[in-house]
Amino acid sequence: VVDAAAPDGKGGRLVVLTGPTAVGKGTVEAAMLDKHPEVWVSVSATTRAPRPGERDGVDYWFMDDGEFVAKEAAGEFLETAVVHGMAHYGTPLEPVREHLAANTPTLLEIDLQGARRVKERAKELGLEIVTVFIAPPNFDELKRRLAGRGTETPEQQAKRLETAKVELAAEPEFDVTIVNREVERTADDLWRIIADEYGIAE
Ligand code: 5GP
Repeated sequence: VVDAAAPDGKGGRLVVLTGPTAVGKGTVEAAMLDKHPEVWVSVSATTRAPRPGERDGVDYWFMDDGEFVAKEAAGEFLETAVVHGMAHYGTPLEPVREHLAANTPTLLEIDLQGARRVKERAKELGLEIVTVFIAPPNFDELKRRLAGRGTETPEQQAKRLETAKVELAAEPEFDVTIVNREVERTADDLWRIIADEYGIAE
C-alpha cells in the first residue's frame, strides 16, 4: 500500500482528537473503535485512585505521585496536567512512539488545553501530528447535550457552557474540523482521516 497521505513517506502521524467540553469526543471515539478496533488509543497515566471496575493499563496507568513526578522529570510524558488541583495526568510518550514506528493507527483523545500542549511538545520533539477538532453543530445542541447527561447541576452546566463558548473559538488552531451532527457519521469521518493518514485502503 502506498501511503500518499504521510507527508514524509515514513508513515502516519499521531492523530490528536480534541474539542469543546461535552461535544461527544468520547462517544465518537467509542463508535469509531467499535468498527475499527485496530486503532490503538493512548492510555493516560494518573495519580488518582482507580474507580470500581477500572483496570490498570486499560483505563489508566495508575501510579503514585513519586512515580509520576519521576517519569515527568525524565521526559517520559508527551504532556501532563494537574486536574482539579490534585491529581496528575499524563500521556506516556514511548507507547505513542512505538505504535507510530510500527505504523499502527495511533489516536490520542485529549481536552483543548492538553491538545495545545501536545502541539507545542510535538514540535519540540519532532513528532508529527494531525489535530482533529470535533465541533458541535451549534451552541444550543451543546447546551442540550450537557443538560441531557444529567451529571451536572444547572449551576455547573452554566459554568461549563461559558467554558464551551471560549473553547469553540479555538477551532482554527487545529488541522481538521468535524462537525458532530450524528455520532456514526462523525465516527466514520474520523476513521477516514485515520485511514488516509496510515494509508489504509478501505
Ligand atoms: P477522570 O479522573 O474523571 O478519569 O478524568 C479527569 C480529567 O482528566 C478528564 O477531563 C480527562 O480528560 C483528563 N485527562 C485524562 N487523562 C489525561 C491526560 O493524559 N492528559 C490530560 N491533559 N488530561 C487528561
